[in-house]
Amino acid sequence: MAVMALVDAHARPLKNLRLSVTDRCNLRCQYCMPEPDYVWLPREDILQFEEIEQLVELFLELGVDKVRLTGGEPLLRRDLPDLVERLARREAIRDLAITTNGVLLADAAADLKRAGMHRVTVSLDTLDRERFKALARFDELDRVLKGLDVAADVFPGFKMDTVLIRGTNDDEMIPLLEFARARGAELRFIEYMDVGGATHWNPSQVVSRAEMLERLGAHYGPITAIEEAGSAPADRFRLPDGLVFGIIASTTAPFCANCDRSRLTADGLWYLCLYAARGIDLRGPLRGGAGRESLKELITGVWHARTDRGAEHRLHARGRSPLIPVSSLKRDPHLEMHTRGG
Ligand code: SAM
Ligand code: SF4
Ligand code: SF4
Repeated sequence: MAVMALVDAHARPLKNLRLSVTDRCNLRCQYCMPEPDYVWLPREDILQFEEIEQLVELFLELGVDKVRLTGGEPLLRRDLPDLVERLARREAIRDLAITTNGVLLADAAADLKRAGMHRVTVSLDTLDRERFKALARFDELDRVLKGLDVAADVFPGFKMDTVLIRGTNDDEMIPLLEFARARGAELRFIEYMDVGGATHWNPSQVVSRAEMLERLGAHYGPITAIEEAGSAPADRFRLPDGLVFGIIASTTAPFCANCDRSRLTADGLWYLCLYAARGIDLRGPLRGGAGRESLKELITGVWHARTDRGAEHRLHARGRSPLIPVSSLKRDPHLEMHTRGG
């Protein structure tokens, strides 16, 4: 299939689509969903698999070649392997991945693999059961650990993501790295971000990439940066003993200049940036009978005009505090990280 090179106002291509398949979650991570209650997307607005497939097809024709399923917790979406199967058939998808909290992974991994999923990333912030309960509000560490063991078998070389929060889990960098090493996984530490939904965010809790490297270097010895081309957000590093890990420095050293990502929410709003105030409604035109060409024109025009560099702008904000007040999040749940999919 001939693919047009579609670039935005900063010459960034449209390559990477994050598909949120549900806004629901079976955890309540303190950095993502810390509030006592949430406003959910109306069920009738949630895209059917056929609708997701139709939209993905348009994005593929416009240059997307990486698709990541996310949520909320994507494994809560009923019959998810059916969607994976539909997407995996598309040769234009060079990389088909999923980000999950791992709670339901032990049972789901083999079906995902059979359906054609290429890669899995599992989020894990602590190895301590009591701490897990405090961080995620549910006593699910054992199930996540089972999920990780199954992932090691079914998706060898899988990735793990850890959001590092000062005073919460930053004393576990080394145990988590060793845990990943034992399972053949590549761990990425993520700086705590002040995204919508992180209503308890505080700059003093951010552990910067520089500090992470300093602390790991003090334990393991000199760390080497791995030079890589491309737009992958994780800078990768190598310990003296050869172990490779990543750090996603979205807060202190954002990668907006090369950002080729956009996000489709479970109800079909398209966001050009994690920090964007509003999304572009694709569900309305799709359900209203807009043809393929007019939808493609809409997507093309919007991407051409894209100037978003949200995390960079936040970097220059004075007196940083949580991005969006709870009252605004309740009025528009699309502002939440768990709706946008991270
Ligand atoms: N529920 C799935 C999970 O947790 O893996 C997928 C959705 S979750 C929103 C996607 C990613 O966003 C997770 O790795 C999570 O750790 C990350 N995330 C959520 N809130 C964050 C924050 N405030 N700062 C940095 N990363 C965050
Ligand atoms: Fe945690 Fe992911 Fe659920 Fe957010 S969506 S609360 S990061 S498991
Ligand atoms: Fe991309 Fe926005 Fe994140 Fe910057 S803040 S890397 S533009 S999604």
